[in-house]
Amino acid sequence: MKTIHMMNSYQQELDALSAEDRFRHCRVVTPDEGALCVVEGRSVVNFSSNNYLGLAQDPRLKAAAVNAIEQYGVGSGAARLISGTNELYEALEEDIARFKSAETALVFNSGYQANVGLLQALVGPKDWVFCDKLNHASLVDGCLLSGARWTRYRHLDLNHLEDRLRQADAKASPSCKKWIVTDSLFSMDGDSVDLQALVTLAEQYGAALLVDEAHATGVYGSREPSKPSRNSGLSEYFGVSQRVDLQMGTLSKGLGGFGAYVAGSKILIDTLVNRARSFIFSTALPPPVIGAAIKAVELVQTDESMKQALWDNVACLRRLAAQAGLPLQSESPVFPLVLGDAPKTMAVCRKLLEAGYFVQGIRPPTVPEGTARLRITLSAAHTPVQIEGLVQALGQFL
Ligand SMILES: *Cc1c(COP(=O)(O)O)cnc(C)c1O
Repeated sequence: MKTIHMMNSYQQELDALSAEDRFRHCRVVTPDEGALCVVEGRSVVNFSSNNYLGLAQDPRLKAAAVNAIEQYGVGSGAARLISGTNELYEALEEDIARFKSAETALVFNSGYQANVGLLQALVGPKDWVFCDKLNHASLVDGCLLSGARWTRYRHLDLNHLEDRLRQADAKASPSCKKWIVTDSLFSMDGDSVDLQALVTLAEQYGAALLVDEAHATGVYGSREPSKPSRNSGLSEYFGVSQRVDLQMGTLSKGLGGFGAYVAGSKILIDTLVNRARSFIFSTALPPPVIGAAIKAVELVQTDESMKQALWDNVACLRRLAAQAGLPLQSESPVFPLVLGDAPKTMAVCRKLLEAGYFVQGIRPPTVPEGTARLRITLSAAHTPVQIEGLVQALGQFL
C-alpha cells in the first residue's frame, strides 16, 4: 500500500516535468565518420559533444587503450590505496604535473568525483568558499558536502567577489581557510574568467584558488608566441599556472577519454589522497582508460593540427553566424543560443535533428530558470560545409 502511494507521487513529479517539456531521457548516439553520429537510425552532424579535438575516436588513442588492455587487462581490481594503482597511473600523473607546470598531480575517476571529493577534503564548517554563480554542479555539490560556509558571487564579477571576501574577512577568524572556486571556461555560456585578475585578487586576500579547466584542457595554450604552447588550459593562457593553487580538469572532453586530474602542490595532493572520500572509496580506473589518457596528454602537446582545426571552425561559425544575422557569438568553441523557455528550445532542437543536425537543448536546472538554450559545440572534426549547413538550418527554424 505504502509504496503504491510513493510510486504515484514519483509518477506525478515526472508528469509535471513532461508538461513543461523538461522530462529528460538518454538518446542513443552512435559515433560515425568524423563529426557524424547516428541518432534514431539516421546519420546527423553532432554539434553536442565536448569531444573538442576529435580525440574520442582517434586511432592513436584506441591503439594505446588496446595495448594497455593486452598488457594489464580490463579492470583495476581495487581502489588505488588498496591495490589498484597500476604503474600507468604513476606515468600519467608525472606527465600531467609537467603538462600543468605543477609540483604533482592526482587522477580521479571523473570530474564529478574530483570536485565533490576535493572540496570535502579541503574545507569544513569553519571555512569559506567563494563560488562563481555559474560554476559547474559538481563544484556546488562539493561545497554542500563539505559543510563549509559558501557564497556565490555574480558571474565573472570580481568586484562582487571582492565585496564577499571583505565581508568574510570581517567575520571570519584569521585561522579559517578561504578558497575561491571557478570554472575557467564556462561550459554552458562559452565565456571565461580573467585568471590574471582573479589570481591577483586571491593573493591580495590570502585566499587559495581552485580552477576547473574541464572545457579548456587541450583547447587553450600559451598566448605568448615566444613560449611553446602545451595547450594545458586557460591557466597557461593567462600565464598563471604556478599561481593557481589547484588546477582541476577532465580527461573526458578535449582529451577524448575518461577521468579527471587535479594538479598542485604536494601538500594539497597528499591531503586529497588522505581525505577525499571519492578518491579513497572508489575502484581505480581501468588500465585502457589510463593508457589512452597518457597518449592524449602527449598528443595535445605535440599535434597542433587538432587545435588549429578547432579554432578555424570557431572562426568559421562566428563569420557565418554574423553574416546570417544570427544572435550567435562566442570567443570559444561553445556557442550558446538562449531561447528562454524549454518547449521552444526543444521544438527547435527537434527540427534541427530532422534536418540532420544534432544540437542538444539545455534546460533548467542545468542552466538558470528562463535561460533554456541550444548549446552548439564545435570540434576539430567538423567541416566548413557542415557548419554552413547548421547556420542555414538555424536561420530557417529560429
Ligand atoms: C564535465 C564537467 C565536470 C565533470 O566531469 P566528468 O568527468 O564528466 O564527471 C566538472 N566540471 C566541469 C566544469 C565540467 O564541465
